[in-house]
Amino acid sequence: MTKTHFSKKLQQTSTQSDIAESKKTVFILHDQLNLSVWPDWIQDEKPLLIFLESEAKSRVLPFHKKKLVYKWSSMRHFAIHCSEQGFPVYYDTIQGWYDEGLKSILNQSNEMQLYYMKPSEWESRKRLDKLREEYADQVEQLSNSFFFADLQNWVHKIEPGYRMEYFYREMRRETGYLMNKGEPMGGVWNYDEKNRETVPEDYVIPNITTFSPDKITEEVIGIVKKQYDDHFGSISGFEYAVNRKQATQLLEEFIDERLADFGPYEDAMVSGEATLFHSSFSLYLNNGLLTPWEICESAIKAYKADKAPINSVEGLIRQILGWREFVRIYYEAMMPKIRETNFFDFSNALPELFWGDETKMHCLQESIAPVIESGYSHHIQRLMVLSNFSNLTETDPRELNKWFWLAYIDAYEWVVLPNVLGMSTFADGGVLASKPYVSSGNYINKMSNYCKHCDYSISKKTGKGACPFNYLYWNFVNKQREGFEKSGRNSFMVSMYDKKSADDKKAIKHSTEQFLAELERS
Ligand code: SF4
Repeated sequence: MTKTHFSKKLQQTSTQSDIAESKKTVFILHDQLNLSVWPDWIQDEKPLLIFLESEAKSRVLPFHKKKLVYKWSSMRHFAIHCSEQGFPVYYDTIQGWYDEGLKSILNQSNEMQLYYMKPSEWESRKRLDKLREEYADQVEQLSNSFFFADLQNWVHKIEPGYRMEYFYREMRRETGYLMNKGEPMGGVWNYDEKNRETVPEDYVIPNITTFSPDKITEEVIGIVKKQYDDHFGSISGFEYAVNRKQATQLLEEFIDERLADFGPYEDAMVSGEATLFHSSFSLYLNNGLLTPWEICESAIKAYKADKAPINSVEGLIRQILGWREFVRIYYEAMMPKIRETNFFDFSNALPELFWGDETKMHCLQESIAPVIESGYSHHIQRLMVLSNFSNLTETDPRELNKWFWLAYIDAYEWVVLPNVLGMSTFADGGVLASKPYVSSGNYINKMSNYCKHCDYSISKKTGKGACPFNYLYWNFVNKQREGFEKSGRNSFMVSMYDKKSADDKKAIKHSTEQFLAELERS
């Protein structure tokens, strides 16, 4: 490796030939960057730590440039931290996959023992499974400790009708979080009803601390600019935290400044605000810079100190202890067949606007622009604007899934696939969710100020200038009536459509056909 700021700072103690001398080695993946989560013996014995940047993995999809910068800069900062803690470290960039890089390391000495933690992502896991078969005497897998739930206790429960809520309540009991003598604190399990407010017009939304790239991040930005210029998204203005110190600073800031308002405005959307009161910690959680337990426990501490109301704290814990853990279990239970699922059999390519083409639909502009810029928009924009639009335009859900995976900075297959194919698009036919996430423009208007700034009219239902969500929604209800009728929760929508006049139905059909014919697809 040529001498870079990173390699000088790393004081790399191990070259390929030194590795042959190492008896015990541990391979650390880019999403396992927290020593406190690894077994104690690793801290005690300080074996050689191996980090690999895999170009092959980075080209599976044209991942957002900032996502690559975040991934590698965090990994490099973590490797430096380990080296400062006295670990010998070997760090390399390889063209192939991790298993290929590890093979060439294992081939240096048959006395070497290699340990790794079970990867969360399927492809890496399968490749390392094969490596383990091939080098049975040398390679050992450790269980993945970055999550609350023990998979073995839950995977078999995933089936249609087993909902997140049941799992979540069990996890509350198991962890004791927000529990009081076996009962939920505050008396109820769920505060969703309190968490659907819109943000008042002059309400102050606190700024989130940003971090200018240091020399290590700048080097990674240079690599990504040079080698991944054809990838999605903007690279300028990288300002995410890339190490634990910065991430914990953001955690404290969130608890002090935004947690109290997180609950009430959890589902709200405001023009020019992609984060609002959300923690936006998913990227730090999903690579280990923050642990799920420290976030939950900090929030509970704030509740006990009267710094945040129960609906905000419970809402946050529901996301982390409930939803995040549940989708991981679903992924384990449903892979790999879930990758190809497509309940409605939609085959349209993704609309070009997802790749940055102009659109006059303000809600879509507001939900896509921050993704192109920074790889982030919050969950209601993802669910009720982007996925909703994809469903209503009969877009292949697998294409939407790929887009979410490559575009969002926090997206890994284990989290994105259940959220897109299981939840928002209903592509699994109802295993995860009881209905597809579709709505007319009314929902977007109710929860945001977007429609005030839009070229389309929210109050107009069909024809020129009408909000496309309005007619696309009724077209969807009519075409997918069988699914709606089966779902008790939404069968009344079909009756509402049927009660419309023949002229209204004709106008819905005509407006939809015209809109879809003019919608540019990739
Ligand atoms: Fe979106 Fe329709 Fe509102 Fe425009 S009018 S912002 S298209 S919901």
